[in-house]
Amino acid sequence: MELKTIKKIGVLTSGGDAPGMNAAIRAAVRAGFYYNLEMYGIYRGYEGMIQNDIKKLDSKNITHVLERGGTFLKSARSEEFRTPEGRKKAYKNLKTHGIDALIVIGGDGSLTGAHLFFQEYGIPAVGLPGTIDNDLSGTDSTIGFDTACNTAIEAIDKIRDTATSHDRLFFVEVMGRDAGFIAINAGIGSAAAAILIPENKTPIETLVEKLKSRTKAMKTSNIVIVAEGGKSGSAQEIADKVKKFLPYYDIKVTILGHLQRGGAPTSFDRLLASKLGVAAVEGLMQGKYDVMAGLINHKVVFTPIVKAIVDDKKVDEDDLRVANILST
Ligand code: ATP
Repeated sequence: MELKTIKKIGVLTSGGDAPGMNAAIRAAVRAGFYYNLEMYGIYRGYEGMIQNDIKKLDSKNITHVLERGGTFLKSARSEEFRTPEGRKKAYKNLKTHGIDALIVIGGDGSLTGAHLFFQEYGIPAVGLPGTIDNDLSGTDSTIGFDTACNTAIEAIDKIRDTATSHDRLFFVEVMGRDAGFIAINAGIGSAAAAILIPENKTPIETLVEKLKSRTKAMKTSNIVIVAEGGKSGSAQEIADKVKKFLPYYDIKVTILGHLQRGGAPTSFDRLLASKLGVAAVEGLMQGKYDVMAGLINHKVVFTPIVKAIVDDKKVDEDDLRVANILST
């Protein structure tokens, strides 16, 4: 692929918002200014690209955004961008502004869109892994994952106070429809009695046996972490089944929901987002197109987008083993 001269870069956030997206935008824009590039904000993800919601950014736009959750560029899901006609409109708008490259911050869907767009129109793009789910290969952690785990743990700590005071059994549902990364991290970090992740199906009898043995061991509180939409069912469904086996237990269900997406990014996410924001601009300048920038063993690594989205990142078997030892 020949090296293109890049003068104007468009930045967008797409898919579900994640804490640290602002820090990534800010880092990319600052790096762009450092290298004398013009930087454009594409508002509301691909939807804004199609509707020409594109504005040149100056340093005022990125003042005091690093520490804020969400994304000041706003995010959206765009059905129209999935169609060739939608992408054609988006391309025309980019050309009107003279934008020659893109930085796309989002999850696997958003990066798939960037890859397709590059294939069709040759617009160089670097993707950044912006999702709380941590379900992208090519990076040890995605932007927002650490913050989401911290938020979940803080909430679970509070739930434990009431669980202990009343000898209650709590089922806490955390985010992660297809991947149990938040569940396993928050579960180990909050001393959960059991962790149910989408990747594994846990028979209800196994869970009940575990809870019974913990009761015998005089554990005063039991918290079971359930990743949403897992094979074993929702937290409420599992709680209803367990109730039939353990009728003497006062069982409660809490769904943490969207609070896991919000809040100020942790220091880890700020650093990750800042490094990757700079890497995205430098990668584009060096001719690294159609790739995702990630951090592996503290070093920036560029992975082809097709590999980052297709490879199934698995929950570490050793984390599962550790979780089991610590909850027995
Ligand atoms: P999250 O992990 O938070 O769900 P995501 O980036 O995976 O984030 P999606 O809703 O899957 O979220 O994708 C975001 C947007 O990316 C879609 O609304 C669509 O505009 C675009 N997109 C996703 N998949 C494709 C595709 N196959 N072709 C073109 N565009 C796509």
